[in-house]
Amino acid sequence: MAQVSCSFCGRKKNEVDLLLSGIDAHICNHCIAQGYQVITEELGSKEDKKEKKSKLPKLKSIPPTEIKRFLEQYVIGQDEAKRSLAVAVYNHYKRLNQTSTDDDVVIEKSNIIMVGETGTGKTYLAKSIARILQVPFCVADATVVTEAGYVGEDVETILTRLLQAADYNVEAAERGIVYIDEIDKIARKSDNPSITRDVSGEGVQQALLKLLEGSSVNVPPQGGRKHPDQKMITINTENILFICGGAFDGIERHIGKRINTRPIGFSGDNRIIEIFDKGNLMRYVTAMDLKSFGLIPELIGRLPVLTHLNPLDRETLRRILTEPKNALVKQYAKLFAMEGIKLHFDEDVLDFIVDQAMQYKLGARGLRSICESIMTDAMFDLPSQKEIKEFTLSLDYAQEKFEKSSMALLRSVA
Ligand code: ADP
Repeated sequence: MAQVSCSFCGRKKNEVDLLLSGIDAHICNHCIAQGYQVITEELGSKEDKKEKKSKLPKLKSIPPTEIKRFLEQYVIGQDEAKRSLAVAVYNHYKRLNQTSTDDDVVIEKSNIIMVGETGTGKTYLAKSIARILQVPFCVADATVVTEAGYVGEDVETILTRLLQAADYNVEAAERGIVYIDEIDKIARKSDNPSITRDVSGEGVQQALLKLLEGSSVNVPPQGGRKHPDQKMITINTENILFICGGAFDGIERHIGKRINTRPIGFSGDNRIIEIFDKGNLMRYVTAMDLKSFGLIPELIGRLPVLTHLNPLDRETLRRILTEPKNALVKQYAKLFAMEGIKLHFDEDVLDFIVDQAMQYKLGARGLRSICESIMTDAMFDLPSQKEIKEFTLSLDYAQEKFEKSSMALLRSVA
């Protein structure tokens, strides 16, 4: 009579330690051990996934007024932008929390586009919004992205950054916020679609559509170019909020032209522009102007919330220097306090810093570099002068240090 053997691996009874018999099959101790391992691995990873899901904190539903109040602690001015952002973000997260689909009303995504000069707080606003919601956030630059197949990064690498910000927790990344900077730099150069390939312009806009509209995208976890051997992670962008920003240099011309030719009442009358705030035409920006500037209608359509940031005037710059929670003046005071030194800025020093920032036209970004050029010597010397307990920054001192700095040199070259 033939010797019984394991029905799974075929080993004979005398080749194994144990052979269990079922109704009409047998299993050996090796196959039982292997089966057990498979079961624990499979069920274990399923349990893990379940746990991960429940570990994600519930999204906070914060009313727009509260979001704005929070933003106020960090960002000075830019009231219109704050209001639009607060409403858009609130609605976005309301959309995420919608559960019943018993009616046909589907709330669409409210991706945002912000238009405003450099250094007026576009990135800062987006970053602050992410902070209040406690969701993963990343900044990507539209100019480094190119159409697939060209030198540069694939558009999917934007999501690689978000994934990294979320510590590779796909679920967390899928409800994060992405800020795409310099969106104006991928505008197509002329209003007519060009015959030649437009590597960095329209093609990239087309590629971005895929991300913005909400689809499953294969993302290379380490970034870089996609290659066949790389294991991809699939991310669904449906609930990712995209905020785009750009300076749109020269868009005022398009706005001005549109306002001037608008056929209302007394059309053709050149005086019409006078009832508008000519100093800040950006206030009247519409989707039409973005199109004239060179964004394709499909892209504009996927960025339904359009808002603008005002240029920073002298008064706003002065407030930025002292008022926000992490205002520069407060940061320096803290640095000095850690050395046991009480730091004091004379009022006219603050005016001086603002004056210089206005000249450099770098928005609030210039404030930091100007402060650094004034403070570096003090920050270098004072830590080794233990007897000094107080330091007052006077206008003479600030002027002297600034004139010696490379920034002042730059100004004289310009
Ligand atoms: P951009 O509009 O070019 O994206 P940023 O948001 O990067 O400008 O601004 C640069 C820095 O200037 C920010 O990190 C922030 O510290 C400061 N800043 C700019 N605008 C404001 C503002 N309205 N209120 C407070 N700080 C601001």
